[in-house]
Amino acid sequence: MFRLINVMEILVSDTIDEILRANKDICSCPRCRLDLAAVALNNLPTNYVVTTEGEVVKRTGALKQQFKVDIIRALTEALKVVSKHPHHS
Ligand SMILES: [Zn+2]
Repeated sequence: MFRLINVMEILVSDTIDEILRANKDICSCPRCRLDLAAVALNNLPTNYVVTTEGEVVKRTGALKQQFKVDIIRALTEALKVVSKHPHHS
């Protein structure tokens, strides 16, 4: 079965896990994680590929190195925005 995926979305959500593990003081609830992803993805180029379920990891792995620096930069900015204006008390 073929799937249309935004590679950037998958890479951002993987990287959020890494960043939250390294920054224990940041709220890691589902709402804040999605807010982080939304803010970061709005500042990153989309990168759609058509792939099969089994190839998702292979396709994203190859692009991860290429975009890693950009993704970390976008997420660092997103952390500032979300921690300043969380959508919950
Ligand atoms: Zn939260």
